[in-house]
Amino acid sequence: MPSPLLHIKSLTKRFGGVVAVDHMSFEIPDGSLTAIIGPNGCGKSTLFNLICGAERPQKGQILFEGADITTAKPEDICKMGIGRKFQNPSVFDEMTVLENLRLPALRLQNAPTSAEMLSLIGLTDRAADQAGSLSHGEKQWLEIAMVLMQRPKLLLLDEPTAGMTVAETRKTADIIKTLNREDGMTIMVIEHDVRFIELLECPVMVLAGGEILKSGSFTDISNDDEVRELYFGRRREVKHA
Ligand code: ADP
Ligand code: MG
Repeated sequence: MPSPLLHIKSLTKRFGGVVAVDHMSFEIPDGSLTAIIGPNGCGKSTLFNLICGAERPQKGQILFEGADITTAKPEDICKMGIGRKFQNPSVFDEMTVLENLRLPALRLQNAPTSAEMLSLIGLTDRAADQAGSLSHGEKQWLEIAMVLMQRPKLLLLDEPTAGMTVAETRKTADIIKTLNREDGMTIMVIEHDVRFIELLECPVMVLAGGEILKSGSFTDISNDDEVRELYFGRRREVKHA
């Protein structure tokens, strides 16, 4: 079996007494699309923060293409090929859509063309408009495209459909599937909206209390009693060390 693109080994992150990520281990194969779900506070964003180097774990290891990046600087992790979109869009409202896209490309060789990216996110006709005039959903797509300008090998998306309409949510699922299937990009998507996860048609990891409760297809996890209880019944308490 080829070595995974990302290998998480017994990763643990505590904030004071709260165990946000608890001895988590998993592998992400090159070219895969993975959805990560779980209730609020179960450690999803912390996991991404650890992978990007924004937070440091107390224990465990993160390997990317076989290299240990557990204590690497965020800018070096970014250069190695991990791109992350944050939960809230942070495009420059005063600049045009095209100017926003060109901004990350300025310091990069080998960036995709703005035209390619505009076409992917369906904003070709809006290129000359101020980014401030875009809808919330369109801003989210623009920000995904800005991250893509660095041609990441691994793309991390944290709740990319937050605040989107149903139509925008569907289009976001299509953009993600196109990137994965046509460009072979490895993508991890955090989301708490299970309807969106279903649209992604990919393996799902369910987190609870900083641990992996279940992994499987959407059908597997939606038929699982423990997962159903987590989503529709009593919520797990936050864990204390
Ligand atoms: P999720 O993204 O799944 O909603 P988070 O990873 O943001 O969850 O948070 C997991 C737990 O860690 C929560 O209890 C949260 O309050 C705590 N936490 C996250 N970041 C910090 C931080 N910087 N300082 C203190 N506690 C934090
Ligand atoms: Mg979060």
